[in-house]
Amino acid sequence: MRVAVLIVAAGRGTRAGGPLPKQWQHLGPKRVIDWTLAAFAQHPQVDQTLVVVHPDDVALLPAGTDHAIGGATRAASVRAGLMALRDQGVDRVLIHDAARPCVSAQIISDVISALDHVDGAAPGVAITDALWVLDDDQITGTADRSTTVRAQTPQGFALPAILAAHQAGDDSAADDVELAVAQGLSVRMVPGHADNLKITRPEDFARASDILEPQMDIRVGNGFDVHSFTDGDHVTLCGVQIPHHKALTGHSDADVAMHALTDAIYGALADGDIGQHFPPSDPQWKGADSAVFLIHAIGRARARGYALGNADVTLICEAPKIGPHASAMAARLADILQVDPGQISVKATTSERLGFTGREEGIASLASCTLIHKGA
Ligand code: MG
Repeated sequence: MRVAVLIVAAGRGTRAGGPLPKQWQHLGPKRVIDWTLAAFAQHPQVDQTLVVVHPDDVALLPAGTDHAIGGATRAASVRAGLMALRDQGVDRVLIHDAARPCVSAQIISDVISALDHVDGAAPGVAITDALWVLDDDQITGTADRSTTVRAQTPQGFALPAILAAHQAGDDSAADDVELAVAQGLSVRMVPGHADNLKITRPEDFARASDILEPQMDIRVGNGFDVHSFTDGDHVTLCGVQIPHHKALTGHSDADVAMHALTDAIYGALADGDIGQHFPPSDPQWKGADSAVFLIHAIGRARARGYALGNADVTLICEAPKIGPHASAMAARLADILQVDPGQISVKATTSERLGFTGREEGIASLASCTLIHKGA
């Protein structure tokens, strides 16, 4: 059972805007037609591909692509393609719009399988909106949507049956199912999908891009920092000053938690660490508000298209008590990062009096964050 796909790419449609017909325009890293060709090339049940093109567009095809020259109407173009396939041992043909690049393997499989039982099969999608009948712009009634579906492609047929229908039919049919049904063929609907959209208007490119290239670029980073205690009367943690009988030593304000979070962001970006961006040897950072570092890190994330998903900061110390200040700390970090406080967690633990934090020699902090890419 040899299955061919006939890609209809001869249209000169200009509703989508742009200098070229929509099927030749770019959709992310490749052209609309390249996505469409790939969808069928990757399908194990599709044996060969033929593209019907306008004579001016032959040079736009990928090298070596089997093609036929289209006619003045869609029906004439399909007919030319069917004629080209006629003597190639093809049993079944799927006729597909080049401008439907998001077609799924499932839809292709379902159409091919249905042809075991009927002359034709094509995907349809239920209509969920009410349908109105118009007289000019006046709504005069509703149409019954329960017996109506939206037509999609690929529309599959036994090759001899659809070729005969095309030779007997006229050129006015909107698609091959219409022509086949008019010629008495039995055509069954299989489930289509809303994602199998036909690029028609300029905004359809963005929708198709979201379907083909879902933005799942999420990065995770972690940071860790330690500062030792010295004499003093307060510590600064997550930008909040807390009275304490000791202070933290450090070149800047020694905000150990903010340093850990800053490093988490740099880490998520694979962009070095706080010491590289703000060398301790540089006197300008002496006593600096560590918010400068955090703002720098999140700025570098945003410049690359990332937004903070969430951050989780843990302080490890016996004292001071963090709990009473945790929500103020989270609010301060959220303010610096310009995110919702619900995206920031600040919590604390002790080390059960073990080790340097247990001996109250200093405070340690670790932080994790996610960065989410917001798309091109
Ligand atoms: Mg530090």
